[in-house]
Amino acid sequence: MTVEVGSFNYRVFSDSAPVMEVAWAQKSGLGWRGKHTLLLSRQAGSMFFLGEMYVDLPLPVDDAIGNYCGSCSKCIDICPTEAIIAPYQVDARRCISYLTIELKDSIPESLRPLIGNRIYGCDDCQLVCPWNKFARITNENDFHVRNGLDDVSLIELFGWDQETFETKLAGTPIRRIGHPQWLRNIAVGLGNAPYSNEIVKALQARLDDASALVREHVQWALQQQNTKRTATEENIP
Ligand code: SF4
Repeated sequence: MTVEVGSFNYRVFSDSAPVMEVAWAQKSGLGWRGKHTLLLSRQAGSMFFLGEMYVDLPLPVDDAIGNYCGSCSKCIDICPTEAIIAPYQVDARRCISYLTIELKDSIPESLRPLIGNRIYGCDDCQLVCPWNKFARITNENDFHVRNGLDDVSLIELFGWDQETFETKLAGTPIRRIGHPQWLRNIAVGLGNAPYSNEIVKALQARLDDASALVREHVQWALQQQNTKRTATEENIP
């Protein structure tokens, strides 16, 4: 490129700085914003990362393309926390990806039961989207499953100490949330699971966790388990 245009300044991004990447991708014709607000491509659905280059070259401007959501509202209907409050409008404070990844504090109690067993993000709005039938599994090894994370129980993950957490998740974005937030999220998932003696034991083992955030969520999860145990016993004839 430098042969064609001479030297120029640039900076490259991919989910690595607060760049208005979806808005610009839409304006530049890479796709349209779906009703879930993510970028959709007719060829690739929404399961991809956007990359950007800031350059100081006078490049030609591309045109935006049309919107192909039509009358579909599957993403709005499936959102577990009703975070898509209107087409093209997400209340980020309700989004499970925000609650489990970005939020550092306590998860609002009213939303915890709606999170189910999602311990790091949520892709329900993308999974249900008809355009993702065009998405393809990448050959990029960095995006493939590591350390059997797609086949492991919440109880086992909850038993990981800080060192195991750091080792098993090295090089993944999950590690960035830190061990206490990881345990907070799993505690919510365990609280939402059907009653089980093993779950109660796993939760009790963390009642004295060093983190107040973890302790509070563990107490909540134990209350949930207790309520379910009582309901089960009451139904036994
Ligand atoms: S699920 Fe339907 S409404 Fe939502 S983004 Fe996909 S096509 Fe658009």
